[in-house]
Amino acid sequence: MKNKLGNLVRDQWVDGDGDGKLLCSAVTGDPVASISSNGLDFGDIHNYARTVGGTNLRKLTFHERGDMLKALAQYLMEHKKEFYELSTQTGATRADSWVDIDGGISTLFVFSSKGRREMPNDHVYLDGPPERISKNGTFTAQHIFTSKLGAAIHINAFNFPCWGMLEKLAPTLLAGVPAIVKPASSTAYLTELMVRRINASGLLPDGALQLICGGVGDLFDHLDCQDTVAFTGSKKTAEFLQQHPRVISQSVAFTAETDSLNSSILGPDAVPGTPEFELFIREVTREMTSKAGQKCTAIRRIIAPAASAGDVVEALSSALGKIRIGNPAGKDIDMGALASQGQRDEVRDRVLELSKEADLVYGGSSDFDVIDADATRGAFFMPTLLHCQKPLTSRAVHSVEAFGPVSTVLPYGSIDEAIELSRLGEGSLAGSIVTNDDDVARQLVLGTAAYHGRMLVLNRHCAAESTGHGSPLPHLVHGGPGRAGGGEEMGGVRGVLHYMQRTAIQGAPQTLTTIGRRWIKGADQIDPGVHPFRKTFEQLKIGDTLVTRERKVTLEDIQHFADFTGDTFYAHTDEEAAAKNPFFEGRVAHGYLIVSFAAGLFVDPDFGPVLANYGVDDLRFAKPVNYGDTLKVRLACKQKTLRAATGYGEVRWDAEVTNQDDEVVAQYDVLTMVATDEQWASVN
Ligand code: NAP
Repeated sequence: MKNKLGNLVRDQWVDGDGDGKLLCSAVTGDPVASISSNGLDFGDIHNYARTVGGTNLRKLTFHERGDMLKALAQYLMEHKKEFYELSTQTGATRADSWVDIDGGISTLFVFSSKGRREMPNDHVYLDGPPERISKNGTFTAQHIFTSKLGAAIHINAFNFPCWGMLEKLAPTLLAGVPAIVKPASSTAYLTELMVRRINASGLLPDGALQLICGGVGDLFDHLDCQDTVAFTGSKKTAEFLQQHPRVISQSVAFTAETDSLNSSILGPDAVPGTPEFELFIREVTREMTSKAGQKCTAIRRIIAPAASAGDVVEALSSALGKIRIGNPAGKDIDMGALASQGQRDEVRDRVLELSKEADLVYGGSSDFDVIDADATRGAFFMPTLLHCQKPLTSRAVHSVEAFGPVSTVLPYGSIDEAIELSRLGEGSLAGSIVTNDDDVARQLVLGTAAYHGRMLVLNRHCAAESTGHGSPLPHLVHGGPGRAGGGEEMGGVRGVLHYMQRTAIQGAPQTLTTIGRRWIKGADQIDPGVHPFRKTFEQLKIGDTLVTRERKVTLEDIQHFADFTGDTFYAHTDEEAAAKNPFFEGRVAHGYLIVSFAAGLFVDPDFGPVLANYGVDDLRFAKPVNYGDTLKVRLACKQKTLRAATGYGEVRWDAEVTNQDDEVVAQYDVLTMVATDEQWASVN
C-alpha cells in the first residue's frame, strides 16, 4: 500500500511493521491507506514524552504555551484546504468537515486566549484565595495546581479525526503535559495528515506530541500516577481500559467520554405553529443528519408531548425527506456517508433492535439512491425515525445507541414523565429543552441536569445565536455522568486542570507568597523607597507596600457625596431612618465614598508608569463608616502579570481600608496597567 500511515515517535516518522490493516474510503469503498503500529517500542515512546516533552513544555509559562497554541492554530488555518480534501473520504460533507477542522482549530484559539487571559504568566496556577486556618494568620494555606510529570494518552473516536485530537491537545499542552495521541483506526489518515503538518511547523517543542497509528501495544503497562488517559469511544472499550491493572494499581487519572442516548424535550407550550415547534424540528433534523448522525452528542431520543407526537413524526418525516444524501464532495449534499461499511452494518443491526420496541416511521435502509455515489460501495444509510408508543416501559430505546442518523420519538403525558424519560438514558453528554415557558424550563432543568454534562434551553429569543444542541464548545464542559463515561473535558481552564495536580500548601504567609507569586496578608510589607506608582512594572516587587496618611470623614462629606452623585439612599441622608436599620447607628458614609477617599489617599498624581486603573475585584465593605471616623489605606503590590509585547503588565494591588481603631472597613483588589521599563523609557 502506497500510503502507509506513519507513527510519530521521538519526533521522527516511523513505519509500523508489516503491511498493516487497510483503511477504505467511506464514499467509494476504495483503499485510502494502511495502518500499523506493530514493532514500536511503547515504553520508549512513553519515556520520551515524559523526559523530553514534559521537560520542554514545563519550561514555558502558561502564557508562552498559549502563544504556542495560537501560532499553531494560525499555521493549521493556512493548511486547512488539504485537510478538507482528505476529510471527504471519511464521509464528511463540507459542513461536517467545518465542525471537525475549523472547529478543532478554533478550540486551539480559545484555549490560547484562556491561557493568556485567565492564567498567570507563570508555571503555578493558584486555586482560589488563601484559606484562613489559624487565629493570627501566621499559618495559612493555598491550593495550587502544578503540571503532572507524566504523559497524556489520548485515545480518540473515529467521528472527529481533527477536533477529537485538538480538543484534548489544547488543554494538555497548556497544562505543560506532553501528549501521545492514538486516533481511531478507520479515519486515522486525516489525523495523521494534521499531525504531519503540526510536526512540520516546528512550533511544538521536542517530545510534546507523538502519534500512534494502530494499536497501543503494551503502552498501558508503563503508566503511573503522573499519567492521564483521556478516552473517547464506546462504553465497552472504556470499561476494558479502566480495568487495566496499571490504571487500577497506580490510580492513573482516566477521563472517559463514551456513548450517550441524548434527549431533546419539546415543551408542552411548543405546539405546532409556534416558533419553538419549528425550532425543535429544525434542531432534531440537523442533529440526526449532520455528520450522518455520528456525533456523540446527537439527539437519539425525541421526547414530545403525547398530544403533539403525531405532528412531530409528520414534520420530521417531511424534513428528513428533503435531505440530499450522496457524495459528500458535492456542494449541495446535506448528508454524506458513515465512516465505514462496518459502521453502516452496525447501525443497521441497531435499528433492527430498536424496531422491536418502536415503529419504524421513516427510513431504515442502506439500499437507496444516493447522489453521485454508489450506495452498494459507500457506507450510506438513510435518516431513520422510529416512534415508540410505550417509552416508559421500553428499554432498548433508552439503551441501544445506533451511532448514525437514527432517532426515536418518545411521547410523554406530564412534565414528570418527560423528566423520567430523559433520566432513563442513564447519563448523557448533552440534552436540550425547547420551550418558551421559562418555568417549565426550570422544572425540566432541575429534574434532569444531574444526568447531563451540558444542556441547551432553546427558544425564539436565543435561537438566532444558538450554537445548537450538539456542538461542544471549548468554553463549556464536555462530558457527562453514567453512560456518558463520567468524564469531563474542556470547559475552559477547568479542562487544563485535568492534566495538573491540585495540592494544598500550608505555611507562613511569606513562604506561600514566594511559592505562588501572589502576596498574602501577613507576608512581608516592603518599603518601596518611593511611591510605588513611580515604579515601572519590572521595578515593582510583590509586597511593595504603601501606608497612607489618614483622612477624617465628616457629615458634610457624606452630604456632599449624596448631592453630587445623586445617591441619596436614606442610610446616608436620614439620621432617624438610618438608625432604624439593624446595621447602622445613624447616617453612614457611602461605600463608594470610602473607595473614592481611599483612591484620594493612595494615588500619586504625577505622570508615571501606572497607566490606568481598569477595575477592582472582590470589593467588600466590612464595617460601616460613621462621620467622625478616620480612614487610612494599606496598598500592597499583590500580583504581577506581564503582557508580553504590549509594553505593559497588569499589577494587582491588595487594598485594605481601616478606621481609627484599625478595624478593616473595606477590602478589595485594585487592578492597574503599569508600563514596562522599555515603554516608560520611550515616553520619558
Ligand atoms: P471504540 O471501539 O471504543 O473505539 C474508540 C477508540 O478506542 C479508538 O481509537 C479505538 O482504536 C480505541 N480502542 C479500541 N480498543 C482498544 C484497546 N483495546 N486498547 C486501546 N485502544 C482501543 O469506539 P467506536 O465504536 O469506534 O466509536 C463509537 C463510539 O464512540 C460510539 O459509541 C460513540 O458514542 C462514542 N463517542 C463518544 C464521544 C464522546 O465525546 N463521548 C465522541 C465520539 C464517539 P481502533 O479504532 O484502532 O480500534
